[in-house]
Amino acid sequence: MEAEIRAAEQHFGRSPGSVKLLAVSKTFPAEIVRAAIACGQRDFGENYVQEFETKAHALRDAAPCWHFIGPLQSNKTRMVSELADWVHSIDRLKIAQRLDDQRPAASPPLDVCLQVNVSGEASKSGVAPGELPALAEAVAALPRLRLRGLMAIPAPRTDFDAQRRQFARLRGLFEDLTGRGFDLDTLSMGMSGDWQAAVAEGATIIRIGTAVFGERAYRHSA
Ligand SMILES: *Cc1c(COP(=O)(O)O)cnc(C)c1O
Repeated sequence: MEAEIRAAEQHFGRSPGSVKLLAVSKTFPAEIVRAAIACGQRDFGENYVQEFETKAHALRDAAPCWHFIGPLQSNKTRMVSELADWVHSIDRLKIAQRLDDQRPAASPPLDVCLQVNVSGEASKSGVAPGELPALAEAVAALPRLRLRGLMAIPAPRTDFDAQRRQFARLRGLFEDLTGRGFDLDTLSMGMSGDWQAAVAEGATIIRIGTAVFGERAYRHSA
């Protein structure tokens, strides 16, 4: 996967090493993650709070960098604020405030991205683009969080140009925020089916599950 990412960086005129692979390990057991760590992979993404807790405890000695990327309910923020290094899926101020309150004093500030609904589907999570500046303003003011950038899960498209247009939309919102003075460095976008288009549009973190670990054998409800 790393070689493919370096090739895509070069193809789309991105600087070498500017795209980071976040290996999405949801549904895969701790021992598979441990093997990936042994191969040099450092960043892992998890979606489900319970599963994340079990895995983080099992891999405490290996200390990978954990990114929480799933939907987060307010009654489950404490564990995430204690065990995660990053949260990509913040779309409401209430969740951000709880993570900020609950972040242990001994830990560095939690790195966060705001999840944006770029496809406009009512069922999708993510803040609406029009509400993004106000949310960014409020989250940036929280002392125990560090606002790093934006994340999106666009509607699946098979056509490369259609994929690119959705990622371009997130990039445009990112540039709008940096233009307003926000100090951001992260565009978390692109999954197994569309990561090349995301790299073309400026992704700095691509979140890849299937293309790294294979097909997921089962699904969680929450
Ligand atoms: C599962 C998941 C991924 C990885 O999806 P793949 O298609 O398996 O690469 C990326 N981001 C989020 C938020 C996910 O839930």
